[in-house]
Amino acid sequence: MSDAKTCPCGSGALFSSCCEPIISGAIAPSAEALMRSRYSAYASGCWNYLRQSWHPDTRPSKVTPTDTCWLGLSIVKATEDSVEFIAGFREGSKVMSLHETSRFAKDGAHWRYLDGSCDICEAGRNSPCPCGSSLKTKRCCGKL
Ligand SMILES: [Zn+2]
Ligand SMILES: [Zn+2]
Repeated sequence: MSDAKTCPCGSGALFSSCCEPIISGAIAPSAEALMRSRYSAYASGCWNYLRQSWHPDTRPSKVTPTDTCWLGLSIVKATEDSVEFIAGFREGSKVMSLHETSRFAKDGAHWRYLDGSCDICEAGRNSPCPCGSSLKTKRCCGKL
């Protein structure tokens, strides 16, 4: 089962051929690929990788593990060194939407996460579900 897991980043590819190799140390081919791998690392609890993939200039001394229940990721816009995305997560019975624009920079051959500005709010019941399904939240992750 775990061998054929689809990637948490929502690419539709298998985890083992998408974000997992990058989490294991392969070079991410783009800032977007690195961002996706960081989302997958959050979703699967790879805290060491999250710290490792942070740019040395802004890297925290420690990444605090959280038990956030992530619902899905959708990329709004990606440029060479920035990625705007929406990620959905659950907080109690609420469906929350995290809208962030992250900046990335190269450290040697590797893309690294520099910083980002984010906006967290409760997903509107009639808005598109932040998990990226294209259904309304009330018909998707917000279904009671
Ligand atoms: Zn992936
Ligand atoms: Zn959903």
